[in-house]
Amino acid sequence: MPAKKLLTNYWGLYFILGLLLASCSKNSSHPPSERTTAHTKPPSADLIFTDAKIYSLNWGEPDSNGLPAKNALHDHAGWHADADALAIKDGQILYVGNNAEALGFKNNTTRIVSLNGATIIPGVIDSHVHIEELGAILNHVNLIGTPTPEDAIMRIHKQFPTIADGSWIIGQGWDEGTWANHYPNKHILDKAFPNHPVVLKSLHGFAVWANSLALEKAHIVSGTPAPIGGKILTDKTGATTLLLDAIPVISEQQLQNNLINGLSRMARDGFVAIHQAGADGAQIKAFQRLNSQHKLPVRVYAMLSVRDHKLAQQWAKRGPLTDDKGWLDIRSVKAFYDGALGSRGARLLEDYSDMPGHKGVSGDGYGFDGQVVKSLMAAGFQIAVHAIGDAGNRETLNYFEKIYQLLPQTRQQRNRIEHAQVVNPDDFVRFKSLSIIASMEPHHAVEDMPWAEKRLGAERIKGAYAWRSMRKAGVRLTFNSDLPGSTHSIFSGLHAAVTRQNDQSQPAEGWHKEQALTIEESIRAYTNWAAYAEFREKQTGIIKKDYWADLTIMDIDPFKTGEQSPEKLLQGKILMTIIDGKIVSDNTGH
Ligand SMILES: [Zn+2]
Repeated sequence: MPAKKLLTNYWGLYFILGLLLASCSKNSSHPPSERTTAHTKPPSADLIFTDAKIYSLNWGEPDSNGLPAKNALHDHAGWHADADALAIKDGQILYVGNNAEALGFKNNTTRIVSLNGATIIPGVIDSHVHIEELGAILNHVNLIGTPTPEDAIMRIHKQFPTIADGSWIIGQGWDEGTWANHYPNKHILDKAFPNHPVVLKSLHGFAVWANSLALEKAHIVSGTPAPIGGKILTDKTGATTLLLDAIPVISEQQLQNNLINGLSRMARDGFVAIHQAGADGAQIKAFQRLNSQHKLPVRVYAMLSVRDHKLAQQWAKRGPLTDDKGWLDIRSVKAFYDGALGSRGARLLEDYSDMPGHKGVSGDGYGFDGQVVKSLMAAGFQIAVHAIGDAGNRETLNYFEKIYQLLPQTRQQRNRIEHAQVVNPDDFVRFKSLSIIASMEPHHAVEDMPWAEKRLGAERIKGAYAWRSMRKAGVRLTFNSDLPGSTHSIFSGLHAAVTRQNDQSQPAEGWHKEQALTIEESIRAYTNWAAYAEFREKQTGIIKKDYWADLTIMDIDPFKTGEQSPEKLLQGKILMTIIDGKIVSDNTGH
């Protein structure tokens, strides 16, 4: 019945008021189920954290200039934590609030951890990594700081007290400068490692020290021509590219070890999840095997590498795979649209400022297969496209626009542009209108600043690494490291995001500081905005009852520090990482 008609009838109006009052009083009392459980014992927690500063992020979003929401605990004195204790049961948050009430959930078996004022934030997520490379580096022998070749050999023995015969030993970091007057020869390596091919790269990658077995595998004999730009020291051999080519494709077991090592390192460093930016068939197989054995150290959101054609075809038929428990989701695809800015491979709309006549390469010329990507979009996959130059970004946006016209449902698939590094001012709003997530790296801005402006010139640089311009256009962001190219330290990432300075706090005024974000925006970009980018914002990214108990605990208050003395963010330390309600890493030394 139309409301207007009822309002002309007084009896009807009283009747409506009566109903409203009845429903109000019903809402204000406890529903029957709560009333009956009020006198029974509350559920008991597995784990309770007390005496913490908890920033739940369970309040409104900041505006596009970074101003905190009205209900955020932010006033003239800055940020304040919104809880000091929480309880966990069965991998989920049971309660967030104060110490006394949290302790009400304890029983005989509950573990209670007092944090003495340490800070808990939602578990941090690195939304663009190459985890197998991190794992491989960790497996290499680190030779940085070895004063002599003999010291290097001792260090290798220490790292590999036992290692199967025939497997390669790879190291890096001996200093070609320090050792310049007494370059080592292969004989001392042969003597120390007769049964392993050994390849030891120098600190700056200009030289390689290898033993006979490695040279044999690389088919380097006396008289082999040196590679372009290289020099084979006869007797004291050192042929960089030839040797690196000879290092065999790693075995399944080694790949698995690399993945575990990389993921374990992330757990230790506070991360609860990673987005693997391009996994080939072998990696997908390894992730699935590790998941079925419950051996993944952190949650994995794997993007299929479209460069593995067989894999792409298989999954286009199969469709996305999401895991009930959220340990391994395969619902995203990584594609490449152009190259990198440093090497002038990124595609620009106009010539490179420091190379007239050159605009870079993109699209088909760069191996982007629009048909394969379209078939994966049709199958329901999120697409994450690497695009760096302003033309690379524009052409990628055009591509998405075209596919949305053909397949309208694909607009809902939270497609992403990875890096979104140089964007023409006209295109920021197109990220928003096409619902594209900008997946960006705070570190890239402060690493590229010595040369980026030379490539782009004074005008185009304003649209580069432009986080604030993205926010102002209403674009969704997620932040990440792109490791191992850059450090994955969350403290370093937050510092770069709020200061636009490198880890040496340079430049003092910040590089294009107008593009910096606030500390709240930066933390969200590594937590609940990253959760959105992986379709998990209803399970993780904020600390709230019934959400996954995925938490990062640190010794500094990043909100206060990031706002008041951001240089001190760099001194932060991860104390604990909690995933699925379990303490997976504890650096407190207790
Ligand atoms: Zn990458």
